[in-house]
Amino acid sequence: MNVRRLISTAAVAGAAALGLTALTACSSSDASDHKSGDRLDVVASFYPMQFLAERIGGDHVSVSSLTKPGVEPHELELSPRQIGGLTDADFILYLKGIQPAVDDAIKQSESENTLDVTTLTSLEDHGTEVGGEEHGHDEHAHEHEGEEAGADPHIWLDPVKYSEVAKGVGKALEKTDPDHAADYRKNTDTLVNELGALDTAYRTGLKNTATKTFITTHSAFGYLAERYGLTQEGIAGIDPEAEPSPARISALHSVAEKKKVTTVFFETLASDKTAKTVARDTGLRTDVLDPLEGITKASKGDDYIEVMKSNLAALRTALGAK
Ligand SMILES: [Zn+2]
Repeated sequence: MNVRRLISTAAVAGAAALGLTALTACSSSDASDHKSGDRLDVVASFYPMQFLAERIGGDHVSVSSLTKPGVEPHELELSPRQIGGLTDADFILYLKGIQPAVDDAIKQSESENTLDVTTLTSLEDHGTEVGGEEHGHDEHAHEHEGEEAGADPHIWLDPVKYSEVAKGVGKALEKTDPDHAADYRKNTDTLVNELGALDTAYRTGLKNTATKTFITTHSAFGYLAERYGLTQEGIAGIDPEAEPSPARISALHSVAEKKKVTTVFFETLASDKTAKTVARDTGLRTDVLDPLEGITKASKGDDYIEVMKSNLAALRTALGAK
């Protein structure tokens, strides 16, 4: 009895040691080993890219995100280790124009399998609707220096644009890993169908509302607003940390009154200080509208689809949906 127990303990310890060795060998392997491994190493720049890679890649990919949960992505800085890790990735998925540090690192890494999802759909310039000249434009020029000036990067908040992006990501994964092309195609179709249902829910849910205008912390919802015939009034610009001017604040006050706005939205990852001040000064209530730039325990849902459904419910309440 005792002897047998000893032997089995030794066997378990041996197996554990073997497992450990295998893991160590795997994680310290160089880029050439990744190709022969059974899963594609995908690096995603931030949550909306991570969600696509996980849903479309399924069991065939191992996804890591450069932006850790709870970190506001716009101002992300990368560690030397993360920058180095880009060289080892089999596939890099990112959205150019929202995280300058990521754009620079990817350019420097000279990785071959990179996909900038802004190439998969059309980008637009979304200025703010009131006091726009002073506010929105300066903000944009500062945020997107160079060729991309003015383009709003928040495409994932429009289910239709996000679906276009999903299709492109699916095709790119098929090309990168042809052995599993059929699965990538199937997973893409499933996701595209879910996004289609989400689009329908938004379209019908926001058709009849008392007002079409909502106030948000940072101007992340331009594409969503345009898709469903709404007007977004951002307190800050595209960058959530930007401080609004006194002129912008007073313009918001008059818009709130004229358009019968009920709610000032704030979000989970950025400061809600200004939103709460605006709400207090105008006598409006506050609620969360999540720009889905990251998922945390505070998020109203576990993934993109769930949080988008929570956002729809919040918008319906705020806009007085019938
Ligand atoms: Zn943003």
